[in-house]
Amino acid sequence: MERLIFHVDVNSAFLSWTSVKRLQNGLSDLRLVPSVIGGESGTRSGIVLAKSIPAKQFRIETAEPVSLALRKCPSLVVEPPDFQWYRQCSKAFKDICRSYAPAVEEYSIDEVFLDMTGTNRIYPDPVKTAYEIKDRIKNELGFTVNIGIGPNKLLAKMAGDFEKPDKVHTLFRDEIPAKMWPLPVRDLLYCGKSSAERLNNGGIYTIGELANANLDDLKKLMGEKGGEFLHRFANGEDTSEVTEEYGDAKSYSIVTTEEEDISDYERADRILLELTDRVSKRLRRDGMRTTCISVTVRYLDFKTRSHQKKLDEPTDISLEIHEIGKQLLRGLWDGKTPLRLIGIALNDVTKDDVTQLSLFPEDNARREKRRKIDKTMDDILDRFGKGSLKRGSGLEKK
Ligand SMILES: [Mg+2]
Repeated sequence: MERLIFHVDVNSAFLSWTSVKRLQNGLSDLRLVPSVIGGESGTRSGIVLAKSIPAKQFRIETAEPVSLALRKCPSLVVEPPDFQWYRQCSKAFKDICRSYAPAVEEYSIDEVFLDMTGTNRIYPDPVKTAYEIKDRIKNELGFTVNIGIGPNKLLAKMAGDFEKPDKVHTLFRDEIPAKMWPLPVRDLLYCGKSSAERLNNGGIYTIGELANANLDDLKKLMGEKGGEFLHRFANGEDTSEVTEEYGDAKSYSIVTTEEEDISDYERADRILLELTDRVSKRLRRDGMRTTCISVTVRYLDFKTRSHQKKLDEPTDISLEIHEIGKQLLRGLWDGKTPLRLIGIALNDVTKDDVTQLSLFPEDNARREKRRKIDKTMDDILDRFGKGSLKRGSGLEKK
């Protein structure tokens, strides 16, 4: 099944969000005048965090000192950032997105990826759905977004960067030659300034020239890995998943959706193991242990169910967490009704530096062995990334 991904990006986020608050207080709309967010209240210090479209005409740039921006445009309005308000705005638009999408990846404070794969039964027309999301955010929250639609994250994000603000764009595979290939290589996602310069020096200026370049020549120019990746991206290939992943002081969690429905325990257990490895790695990295594990499933109609279990003893061991996760999964799902999403959360975490010893020596030996396996897994994940390792459930049975 071809995937369907939306990228939702708030237009000039900090500036828009501050404007919304100003309008609520009867003040003017900063989006209509040369203005920036940055610095500290009443001073000229600090850097420009965001700028209005009229400010762009004065060649004011993000990350330059506010004092320099004021020299370029003496009438510039400078407002300090309000991060507490920004977090509220961020949550509000993400909540609207979440009500449409089976899985939402929080890419940054003002960007999300929505995995809409398999939603055609509910939303037959993706472009119409994107307009609905965009307009709801605008009408209910007072700021605009761009939505890019594509078969993967790369193309969705590229599409979202086309003409702004308040627009919906598509970039499906058959649109790549017309919409993406004429752009300069610098506009390709993941192609930084120095890579673009090196490509230009090698006579490659557009994304199309990059896509159609000889791969061996490209590797000579950009290095083995760099050449391969850029070539792949220029051809619109990207297999990375939309993954919900976040952690705060009290909880670590991860959720993933699959391209195909999940409708048997074997496959579900395997996905759960992968998620467990990734989320418990973060737990171990922070030197934490969990005392409450919860598993969440989401059905095709977006109905969500969770079960949780409190533990007698805190743990950071993947296989123990996975074992409990499997039990929870069986308690809340029949193993047949198709699922779109599985998630696991490690809650009520504690800093636990005293190694808890069991009364039974064989338990201790087994835990030690499991810890060694986790350590090896973590090292491999660190070195080669998350796609590098698929642990068989039979690796450690004892
Ligand atoms: Mg943005």
